[in-house]
Amino acid sequence: MGEAAAEELAALSKGLIFFDVDTQRDFCWKNLGKDVYNPGAEKLAEKWGKLLGAARKARLRIFGDVDSHTEKDPELKRNGGRFDDHCFPLTHGWRHVPETEPQSALYVPNKALNKSEMASILMHDGEIYFEKQAHDVWDNQNTEAVLKAKGVKAAVVYGVATDYCVKLAVLGLQRAGIQAYVVTDAISAINIKPDDGKNALEEMKKAGAKFVKMEEVIRALNQPKLKSR
Ligand SMILES: [Zn+2]
Repeated sequence: MGEAAAEELAALSKGLIFFDVDTQRDFCWKNLGKDVYNPGAEKLAEKWGKLLGAARKARLRIFGDVDSHTEKDPELKRNGGRFDDHCFPLTHGWRHVPETEPQSALYVPNKALNKSEMASILMHDGEIYFEKQAHDVWDNQNTEAVLKAKGVKAAVVYGVATDYCVKLAVLGLQRAGIQAYVVTDAISAINIKPDDGKNALEEMKKAGAKFVKMEEVIRALNQPKLKSR
C-alpha cells in the first residue's frame, strides 16, 4: 500500500499541505481523564512530530483543525450529549501535544468573517487551524473558503480519531476536490464498535482518498523535485 501514492506526493509541485486533525492533549493524554481520550493516540505523537518536522523542512504549509468547545455545544454531557467537557479554548487540554506544537499559528473562528478578517487570514504565512465545535471541521463555515483561496489541491492528513474527526475531515476534502493522502499509521480509531476504524477507512477510500505510510511520506518529501520548490 502507498508507494504509488507517495510517488504522486513527490510529484506535486504546489498546492500540497499537511492537515493536522485534533492532536490535542484532551484526546491524547490519559492522565487528563477525559472520556474523549483515544488510547492509540499517545503512541502516535512521535510520528506526528516527525511528519510535521518533514513538512516544515520541505516548507509545506501546515493546516489543521482543533476542537474548541463552548459550554453550549450539543456533544457535551452538560447539554445531553455524550462527552465530558473537553478542549475549551486555551485550557491545558485544548493545547496541542508538544510534538505538534504549532509555530506562529492562526486560529480561524467558526463565525462569519468580514472582508478584512478574511484578508488577514489569507495573508497569514504561518500555520492555520480551523476551530470547530462538533466532529466535522467542515462545520466551520470558513474551512472551504480559506482552503480554496489558499489554492490547496492536496492534503496529507493525520491525527485523531480515524472513525470521527479524521474521517469527516477527509470526506470533506474529497468533496471539495482536494486530494487527501491519509497517513494510515499516524491515525487512531476509537472503535466503539470493533470495525468502526476499518469501516471509516473503507468510506474514505470509496470517496477517493489515498493511503500512505509515514515513512513513505517522509521519503517523498525528501525527493529533489519537492525539495527544489
Ligand atoms: Zn469535541
